[in-house]
This record gives sequence, structure tokens and C-alpha cells, in this order.
Amino acid sequence: MAPGIIGNMKRLILATRNANKVTELRAILAAAGLDVELVGADAYPEIPDVKETGVTFAENALLKAHALARATGHPAVADDSGLCVDVLNGAPGIFSARWAGRHGDDKANLDLLLAQLADIADEHRGAHFACAAALALPDGTERVVEGRLRGTLRHEPAGAGGFGYDPILQPLGETRTCAQLTAEEKNAISHRGEAFRGLVPVVRELLG
Ligand code: IMP
Repeated sequence: MAPGIIGNMKRLILATRNANKVTELRAILAAAGLDVELVGADAYPEIPDVKETGVTFAENALLKAHALARATGHPAVADDSGLCVDVLNGAPGIFSARWAGRHGDDKANLDLLLAQLADIADEHRGAHFACAAALALPDGTERVVEGRLRGTLRHEPAGAGGFGYDPILQPLGETRTCAQLTAEEKNAISHRGEAFRGLVPVVRELLG
């Protein structure tokens, strides 16, 4: 194989413009001793974002990973995540980012969810964050791994860290919400951390 092709195979693109996600996955791959150059989608500003038309986290992660792999000719990883509430049969789920109607309005989403659950007692407030991480190759090869962070929902937000629904999810075995954990503490137990760590053997198998 020509050196240029080996070079190409070692670049891995993460379908996100969130620098924290790139840093998190890069650290996991480096800790596993994988010699891979991980770059975010910002390295390819000409490639448009993909519409998330899937109905599961895995479908949306695969859509994004395949689109990026096809467009760049490099292996690509994408993740999709959300909050799944037991008493709402898994909602907001894939609608987590736009539960109150406007994409990315974290406060409105959280306030609406708390209002919907106002009469629900503590013992029925179970929920989990879910994440699917997909890896796609330009030839169409694909893998998906999933991660979960299980907990219970508070009645009131607590904590100033994190984002999204972090101020109301208290992980099992914790006395604090996700918004009261340090970034390192959250990454160690999070749905995304678990899914990203699950990618290590997949990256080793397909790119190693
Ligand atoms: P994304 O797929 O990472 O963009 O997440 C979609 C939505 O799910 C976010 O806008 C949040 O509302 C929610 N979400 C996903 N992961 C987390 C998390 O770790 N903490 C809080 N909210 C999250």
C-alpha cells in the first residue's frame, strides 16, 4: 500500500463542531495507544451538516458518520444522544434538543420537562442519558456502539456545570446532579464516555 494511503487511513474525523467532544475522544484513543489523528468537522467547513432524519440515536449517528466518510474519503465517527425518561416511554429521546420546540434551547427544554413531570413521585422518576457512537468507512463499512448513564430526575435544577438536562439528572449512586460533577467526573461515567470507550476496539479493528 502506498504511504499516502496509509496516511489517509489513519485520519479519523469526528462529526461535531464541539471542541470538547473532540478532546474527549482524542484522549480516549491516545490512552488506548491508538495512533490515529482525530480531527473535528471544523477541518472540513465546506461540508454541510446532515439532517437528522433517523428515528433512533443509532440511525442518526450512522447517517452523520456515513455522510462525512463519503464526503471526505476518511473514516468518520458520529454520535447522537439524548435523555430518555421511563415514565414518558423513552421521550424526549431523539427530540431532546428541541423538546420545547426550538432547537438547542436548553432552559426551555428543561423547564417543559420538569412541568410535565411535576406530579410524578421520586420512585417513578427514573431516566437515562443514551448515546450511540457510529464509525463508518468510505467503503460503507459501519459499526455502532452505545452507552448509558442511568439516574433519577430531580424536581428542581441544581448545579451550574454541564449543559442540557445535566442540572436535573442525578446519576445512580450519586448525591449530586450531572451539573455538579467536574467534567472529568462526568466523562468517567457518562453515556458518551462509555460509547466513545466502546469505539476503541472498533477503531483498532478497522483502522489499526
Ligand atoms: P447531542 O446529540 O450530543 O447534540 O445531544 C442532543 C441533546 O440531548 C442535547 O441538546 C441535550 O438536550 C441532550 N443531551 C445529550 N447529552 C447530554 C448530556 O450529557 N447532558 C445533558 N443533556 C444531554
